[in-house]
Amino acid sequence: MSEDSVYQRLRGHLAYLRMAAAAEALPGELERAKEKDLGHSAFLERLLDVEVAATERRRQAGLERFACLPAPWTVGDFDFDAQPSVDKAMVHELATLRFLENATNVLLIGPPGVGKTMLAVALGRSAISAGYRTYYTTAADLAARCHRAALEGRWATTMRFFAGPRLLIIDEVGYLPLASEAAAALFQVVTQRYLKGSICLTTNLGVGSWGKVFDDPMVAAAMLDRLLHRSVVFNIDGESYRMRSHRARSENVRKGVRPRPEK
Ligand code: ADP
Ligand code: MG
Repeated sequence: MSEDSVYQRLRGHLAYLRMAAAAEALPGELERAKEKDLGHSAFLERLLDVEVAATERRRQAGLERFACLPAPWTVGDFDFDAQPSVDKAMVHELATLRFLENATNVLLIGPPGVGKTMLAVALGRSAISAGYRTYYTTAADLAARCHRAALEGRWATTMRFFAGPRLLIIDEVGYLPLASEAAAALFQVVTQRYLKGSICLTTNLGVGSWGKVFDDPMVAAAMLDRLLHRSVVFNIDGESYRMRSHRARSENVRKGVRPRPEK
């Protein structure tokens, strides 16, 4: 077979195997191999490396789209000095993602504006970077979705969906009172993930007042029991970060300091 037809067949194989990145890199890599007098394995390694990198990028982008994280926050963005009630070492430990291995839950409890969503999203981002399937939802969205699913006869599929991700972030539990149907949905999600997959949950409710947002205090107690059994809990107090920067700005205005432009 002529060199030309071998080349054409090789292109054909790469196209058939959907190795577009390798196909695109092929002429350049062949040229380089000739120039540098590379052996067969060195050439092949380089070519496959291109394809592996492209697959990895696609996979990351897929995980990223799937996760629906509401913001680009990372652990590095969190200002620990501003929030001394947050255990920095523990957050960094969580960012290693070892907690996902034994389905430990993370509960972030605190008033509005203290960085609960930010921390949850930052952990989600770490999980995605490490290749873990992650999904973000608010409690209200989860409830609405389960409600629709029940009406449309897709309850089981929806439950399987929420069981799937390695890390499920449920944001804003307790901001809105949950009707008993919604509480039942949340309860089932928590129950089916119990000891199998981590949940990172944020709430403005102290553990003691969970009974109040859920119609049925028994459901609330059973849910908390499962969430807390294997968990890391952050009780974040202190003032809202938004209020804090707002107040700093007002004080500067009062002192006649020119405000820095907003980022
Ligand atoms: P919560 O979910 O507790 O209501 P958020 O996580 O939404 O609070 O934080 C509110 C805003 O303040 C966000 O814009 C967030 O980026 C910012 N923020 C809160 N805490 C911190 C912090 N410690 N460092 C940097 N930004 C923070
Ligand atoms: Mg929030």
